[in-house]
This record gives sequence, structure tokens and C-alpha cells, in this order.
Amino acid sequence: MIESVTGQVQEGYKPPDIHCSDWVLILSPAYGDKGMRGSLVVSAESIYAWASTHVNRSWNSVLAQQQALEHLVIWTKPENVIDGYVTLLDEVQRGVLQEYAGNLIKNQPYRAWCPECKHLYEQFIDATEYLGKEGNESRSTQIWKCPDGHILRLISKTYTYF
Ligand SMILES: [Zn+2]
Repeated sequence: MIESVTGQVQEGYKPPDIHCSDWVLILSPAYGDKGMRGSLVVSAESIYAWASTHVNRSWNSVLAQQQALEHLVIWTKPENVIDGYVTLLDEVQRGVLQEYAGNLIKNQPYRAWCPECKHLYEQFIDATEYLGKEGNESRSTQIWKCPDGHILRLISKTYTYF
């Protein structure tokens, strides 16, 4: 535990004792992720590319998340990555990475698992719908589908403007 300048005691990050492999499970119902029916797997390479840039541009006020981001740069560094099965992330790593899932698959290889087709696709269809404005609220539904049309992710979002 580390005491910050404000006197708040924050729990530090305890990194996983496993190596990272070429592919990493980032979003999945197996993690209990809201709205996920399928799973999304990204390459360690794309996490490395994102984390090594992001670490210099941001500061996370949650100590464990900041340390997890710094650790991801080392963990996903090409010379530290091993061949193997898909690697699972811990809860703190998911807190750092999940909101950037869109960045991690942009121009990068990824895999989308459809539980209905029981197939690992090299792409999915982003059928996100903008549902329009009502008063000071804007609504949209993020829908990801497998190439065969099954829903992999469904999240309704409402933005409120002030
Ligand atoms: Zn499918």
C-alpha cells in the first residue's frame, strides 16, 4: 500500500505471474461484461502499441490502474510474449483496457468469437445505431454482429447534455 500526497491510502497493483501470449481476451461474457454475448480477442502487439503510447500521454488517478498500464507495456512487449493459448486479463487490466477496445482493433488484427456459429471470425460487423435526440438526451445502441448476423455485443447508451 502506498500513501498518496492527499493522505489517501491506495492499494497498489499486483501483476499477474503468467506471461502474456499472442492473443488476449479483452471483452467477454466470461468476464461478466455487460452486453457481451460473443467475445473479442485482440493481439498482444496492438495492446503494446497502444499502451506504450498511452502511458506517456495520460495519468490515471487510480494508482493500481496507473501501475497496471505501466506493467502492460512490459508484459506485452514482443520479446516477453510467448506462443500459446489466449491470455486472460485481470480485473485491473480490464479497467485500463476495455474502454479502448475500439482503438485496439482499429487497423489491427483481432478475433471475434460467435457462440452461436461456434466460430472465431477475423472480423465483425459494427451495426451501431444512432437513435436520435429527445430533449437534452441523445441515445444510441452499440451493436456488434458476427458476419452471419448474430449479436455479439448490445449496449444502449444515453448521453445527457446540460
Ligand atoms: Zn454467428
